[in-house]
Amino acid sequence: MSQRDERVRSDPPDYAETDVSVLVIGAGAAGARTAIELAERGVDDVLVLGKRSHGDAHTTWARGGINGALGTRDPEDDWTIHAADTLDEGHFVNDPEKVRAVAEQMPERLRELDEWGMDYSRTDDGEIDQRYFGAQSFRRTAFAGDHTGESLLDTLIDRAQSLAIPYREDVMITKLVTDGDRIHGAVGFDMDSGEFVLFNAGTVVLAAGGYAAIYGRHTSRDDENNGDGPALAYDAGAELMDMEFVQFHPTGMAVDESDAEWEPWSGRLVTEAVRGEGGRLYNADGERFMERYSPGQMELDARDVVARAIAQEVAAGRGTANGGVYLDISHRESSFIQERLPRMYERFQDLGVDLATEPVEVAPTAHYGMGGVAVDAHGETDIRGLFAIGETMAGVHGANRLGGNSLAETVAYGFLTGKRIADRVDGPGSVPETCIETVVEPHLADLDRMADSDGAYDAETVFEELQALTWEHAGLLRDEQSLADGLDALDDVRQKAGDMRVGPVTSRSFELAIDIGFMLTAAEAVLRGADERTESRGAHYRTDYPETDGTWQRNIHYRRAAIGGMTTHAEPVDAPSEAVQAALDEGHELDYHQLE
Ligand SMILES: Cc1cc2nc3c(=O)[nH]c(=O)nc-3n(C[C@H](O)[C@H](O)[C@H](O)COP(=O)(O)OP(=O)(O)OC[C@H]3O[C@@H](n4cnc5c(N)ncnc54)[C@H](O)[C@@H]3O)c2cc1C
Repeated sequence: MSQRDERVRSDPPDYAETDVSVLVIGAGAAGARTAIELAERGVDDVLVLGKRSHGDAHTTWARGGINGALGTRDPEDDWTIHAADTLDEGHFVNDPEKVRAVAEQMPERLRELDEWGMDYSRTDDGEIDQRYFGAQSFRRTAFAGDHTGESLLDTLIDRAQSLAIPYREDVMITKLVTDGDRIHGAVGFDMDSGEFVLFNAGTVVLAAGGYAAIYGRHTSRDDENNGDGPALAYDAGAELMDMEFVQFHPTGMAVDESDAEWEPWSGRLVTEAVRGEGGRLYNADGERFMERYSPGQMELDARDVVARAIAQEVAAGRGTANGGVYLDISHRESSFIQERLPRMYERFQDLGVDLATEPVEVAPTAHYGMGGVAVDAHGETDIRGLFAIGETMAGVHGANRLGGNSLAETVAYGFLTGKRIADRVDGPGSVPETCIETVVEPHLADLDRMADSDGAYDAETVFEELQALTWEHAGLLRDEQSLADGLDALDDVRQKAGDMRVGPVTSRSFELAIDIGFMLTAAEAVLRGADERTESRGAHYRTDYPETDGTWQRNIHYRRAAIGGMTTHAEPVDAPSEAVQAALDEGHELDYHQLE
């Protein structure tokens, strides 16, 4: 036994223990929906936890809508066409079985939310209204004004409360406990009290969100979507998949980050409706550059086309000082803008900009990671009892996500996973003594040492350096050299991360240090996968391999090797079912031009 092991074993930090049959890590739509299904099926020994206060999950940021082929507006729509659109937009590397599972059950999930009180926008005769959203062949997106995510989560929380589902807020999970074959629980800390915690749980559901915030410019908040879910699963020995596919929204706010008033707005979405209502894009030379990239569709082409065009303008030196281009709708009347784009108008007005008279700077912004944890049809990983769902899982979206499909995935997989677990849940877990000695106590000792540590590097600076690296080397435009340089630079950041100045357990710098650990895993996977995938497909664009290569209709899987770091292998994609293939053969056209 080494000196370090001796110290750890003789003097582990104290921790509180909780026994629970099912631990749900994450209280967004996916976690909440899973817990509801469990409770409805009589499993009441469940605990849902989140690292923020109750009701404050990233889900609340979703505005546009949630997909399901109800056929309210277009009766000819059905779930097979929803599935076909999803595969088409995913460039046929989605898992057809997961796509089927989501599309087929969504009409029922939407109606059930209606019964639970969701305040959907409605047609004149009281039906759940539906609209186009992104690339779809029919109006299939149900919505609640421009606050769909908030309304969805409120509905789920009300339902969960009526079922008396226990919830714990402000707890951050830092490690899963497994013996390699099955899950036994999770450890972390209480962010208010600083107490370390161990959850003995025979079943764990990871519903901890995605990884888009590994990028310097992104649409979520800095303290979510740091890759917690995928990194926790990977560290436990589960496989990740499709991590190289990251969706960039074309118009995030490009701001002067040294300006304290503007800095918090960096990357925040400027709604597509600005372009839908006639907004034009200009480079710093005053050229309406979409003429070069898409003379037919101009600013209304697909998200990835517009995002790449902006990135190419900036890369060619025709960008603005803040690394973006100009979005200008000043040719419209002020009254028109205020009526059609009230939230955008107000936001910019608060920042001292009049959308009716001046352009705003925009640039692509990381919006959604299509990859995540590889799971089976029920959301279970290859570690028995460990499930991963919602934005944490991979497989539904392939190489590009259809707008409105991620909220659909959260409730569809919440239902499926809850049902699966209820069928076989076998009582509270008990972490075996060997796992306490080899996993729990060494990990908590590491956390204890990290608290109040005095290293050479400031945690926030390392965090930002990592985000900048990912943006530069694994952004919209990728090539072999830049990806290789990115992996080298990642090693430097990793070294720095091991030598940081960190405050007490309850400090923001402690949370940042944990986030950096998760982000390093997610960033490495994105860089490695993007390097390996020598083609362009969906959101993944290689300037040195600009064409799609049919031999790459495969998914890259990532696994932690026993020795030697991350390994990858590629697996072929399954064929869709006959019903979905028939819908694909009908050749429905994806409509990109309805940006309501
Ligand atoms: C601006 C914006 C707009 C969007 N609009 C739409 C839209 O219109 N339609 C659509 O379908 N999708 C949309 N999306 C995507 C969609 O919002 C998300 O994919 C979805 O809400 C994810 O839900 P989730 O339950 O998987 O995760 P989240 O809602 O992200 O919840 C994650 C939970 O995990 C917890 N957690 C995370 N890490 C830890 C940890 N280490 N320990 C403990 N707890 C942890 C968090 O506290 C939180 O409770 C949008 C995304 C953005 C950024």
